[in-house]
Amino acid sequence: MKLIELIQKSSKPFYSLEFFPPKDAEQVPSFLQTAVKLKALNPLFASVTYGAGGGSQDNTVEISRRLKEECGFEPMPHLTCVGASRESITEFLERLRAIGVQNILALRGDPPKQAPGTGAANTAGAQYDWFGASFKHASDLVRLTRSCFPDFGMAVAGYPAPHPESDSFENDRGHIKTKLDAGADFVVTQLFFDPREYIDLVTRLRAMGVNKPIIPGVLPIQSFESLRHVLALCGANVPARLYIALEEANRQGGAEAVREAGLGFAVDQIRRLLDAGAPGIHLYTLNRSETCLRIAEAVGRL
Ligand SMILES: Cc1cc2nc3c(=O)[nH]c(=O)nc-3n(C[C@H](O)[C@H](O)[C@H](O)COP(=O)(O)OP(=O)(O)OC[C@H]3O[C@@H](n4cnc5c(N)ncnc54)[C@H](O)[C@@H]3O)c2cc1C
Repeated sequence: MKLIELIQKSSKPFYSLEFFPPKDAEQVPSFLQTAVKLKALNPLFASVTYGAGGGSQDNTVEISRRLKEECGFEPMPHLTCVGASRESITEFLERLRAIGVQNILALRGDPPKQAPGTGAANTAGAQYDWFGASFKHASDLVRLTRSCFPDFGMAVAGYPAPHPESDSFENDRGHIKTKLDAGADFVVTQLFFDPREYIDLVTRLRAMGVNKPIIPGVLPIQSFESLRHVLALCGANVPARLYIALEEANRQGGAEAVREAGLGFAVDQIRRLLDAGAPGIHLYTLNRSETCLRIAEAVGRL
């Protein structure tokens, strides 16, 4: 079933979850135990990252299969098209169809990192052959999937703080609309910490005539290190008051206090997003259950 149908049928806000496939086979059993614990949130779907952090596409298919067959999740594997060929994309989608998975998060992805010493730090892509690439934007992947796999449901990424490469807020919002007009069903956002960024994104897209669901992505901050790691990857903004609160928590109570402050902040963020009319909350679980379960308990039943 296409996820958009589940979203439309859902009479109340829902959770969805993001997992990344464990790199080693030995980690899979404990990963699946974590996933099963998170079923307590009654998530509408579970997304599975693709290639992020060095994972392979085989892992994405296999973990999606196991989440579906062994844990009863509705999986939404991510798929990136940068550097891919039409054949490799269609083969991947065929593999998903063969295991009964018919929803993807259609992404461009980031071009391969340059070798150290090339002076291309933080400009991955400067030397990538964009001109010769089969897929330049996620919208190219959306078009291919929509025309060759019309039975597939599709989400795309949106950026409350605009995508780091974009030249303006307006153009970035426009490119999200292009992906939806090309046939994507809904948007899952990049993580962000200021609910006003999400509200602004939704307001601007609605003003452009977009009426598809826009699901905010929430990352519960679990440590300074993990915050630094994700910020380096995605370019989200950290509000000053959050940064100061985390620093103060760290000074007074160390790592444990930072985790508690992050949890409290995520609860407040989720409440504000739901008050603003968000259709659901996409939790970046980092493959951990405890914090997400505590957040859901504090937020109360959705
Ligand atoms: C929810 C979510 C999940 C993610 N999961 C993964 C994952 O599993 N694996 C992974 O490798 N990465 C993942 N990413 C990161 C993502 O691949 C990067 O952010 C990537 O840089 C952009 O992908 P995109 O699909 O948004 O690209 P696009 O929509 O193509 O946008 C990329 C940039 O190009 C611009 N643009 C788009 N269309 C056009 C156009 N027609 N003309 C000019 N400019 C245009 C946009 O404004 C933006 O600046 C995820 C991101 C999000 C938000």
